[in-house]
Parts: sequence; structure tokens; C-alpha cells
Amino acid sequence: MKRKPFIAGNWKMHLNIADSVALVRQLREKLDDLKGVDVAVAPSFPALGPVRDALYGSSISLAAQNMFYEEQGAYTGEVSPLQLLDVGCRYVIIGHSERRNILGETNELINLKVRSALAHGLMPIICVGETLGQRERNLTFMVIDDQLRDALVKVSREDAEKITIAYEPVWAIGTGKTATPQQAQEVHKHIREKLEARFDAQLARSIRIQYGGSVKASNAAELLAMEDIDGALVGGASLKAEEFTAIVKSAVK
Ligand code: PEP
Repeated sequence: MKRKPFIAGNWKMHLNIADSVALVRQLREKLDDLKGVDVAVAPSFPALGPVRDALYGSSISLAAQNMFYEEQGAYTGEVSPLQLLDVGCRYVIIGHSERRNILGETNELINLKVRSALAHGLMPIICVGETLGQRERNLTFMVIDDQLRDALVKVSREDAEKITIAYEPVWAIGTGKTATPQQAQEVHKHIREKLEARFDAQLARSIRIQYGGSVKASNAAELLAMEDIDGALVGGASLKAEEFTAIVKSAVK
């Protein structure tokens, strides 16, 4: 049986508070109570509270784009898992390639964040993906294996039930270049095999693996039709209510 699809919108460092609330109101009109799919939006930190209020009673969940691994203390500029819970987040994106590549996040740091999110009851969306150079040198599987293995160090089987993996080839993020459904499926299948080796077949079959990288209304259906593609992490197209709605609806059979 295929897993319940999960579509998440990563709004990145876009939208002020008013525009974030306006977008989520539009999404509620179109998507509230749609069955057979889980939906989340990840606004930037200042908009989390207002978007949470606008989502009151909605089937759409709130996600954060990042977090720090400590609960509280002298960590200027960081946001803790307790603060994310307090503001109403259910999910947190961890290890996005923009954080890996622009902010220098390492696999080790990402593992600390994953473990902290799980310890606090937040559901991490763990991002993995290769750069164009790595793909061209046939290093895709090696890079994914390293990122996945390191992200899951000391994660128990019980906690692993709460994770989502997002396969996001870096060369496809924000570039308009999408992996073909076959290219994405090949990596998703590989990730599921690695999850089986790390945990077991039953758990590997239940973990959702999202694809991310220039997903839009026009290519979502063919990606989501693939056996091991269980949803999408959507950047640019999640800022447009019509586009995001169409992507979500294409996930529902
Ligand atoms: C992302 O940032 O997670 C992403 C996939 O962006 P885009 O859809 O714009 O490529």
C-alpha cells in the first residue's frame, strides 16, 4: 500500500506577515478538509505566530524551516524546539541544502537537530541531496548515503516512525530544472533500501520520502505517480495559492 502523501510548502525568506496570513487564508479555502493528503506550510519565523492563528481549526499543519538543538540559553539568533512547539509547529525542516551550503551546516549538526526535534515531539523533514558536480561525478548515492546515515545516528526505530525524508537534488532547487520522475524514483528507491538496512523493511515501507526541486503544478502528478515518491517539498510554487493547491490536489488519488 502506498503511503499517505505529504506536501509541504517551504516559504523560505519570502513574504511579510500580512502576505503570509493572506496566503494561508487562500490555502484554507481551497484545501481545508481535503482528505487523503497531509499538508504543511513553513513560513519564516516572524510569521509563525500569525499563520498559526490563521490556521486555527485547519487541517493544514505548521512547520518551521529550521531550529537549534538546545532547549534554551545563550544562543543568540537561534530558535529552540520548545519555542517551535510553543508557537504551534508540528514539523520542522532540517538540513535544507540552503542551510548546508550557505550557512555551513554539517551532517553532525543536522543529526543533533534531528535528535532534538524527535526528543521534543517535533516531526523532522530531513533534507538530503547531491549537487550538480557530485551527480556528474557519479557520487549521488555516496553523498545521499553519507547524509542519511549521519542524520540518523542514534535515532531509535520508534523515533524514526516520525521522520520524513526530502530528496532535494541541489541542482533542481529554484533552478527550474526538475529531476525526471525516473531520476527521482531511482534515488527514492535507493533511500528506502538504505532505511530498510538501517531499520527494517516494515519501517522503511512506512517512511514518507518527499521529492523537492522545482516542483510545480505542471510536473507534480508525474513525479507523485512514482512508486517511492510520497509527496513534495515545494519552494517557489508554494508561494502561489493556485499552484500549491494544484500540486496538493495532484497528490490525491
Ligand atoms: C526547496 O527549497 O525546498 C525547493 C524545493 O525549492 P523550489 O521548489 O523552488 O525548487
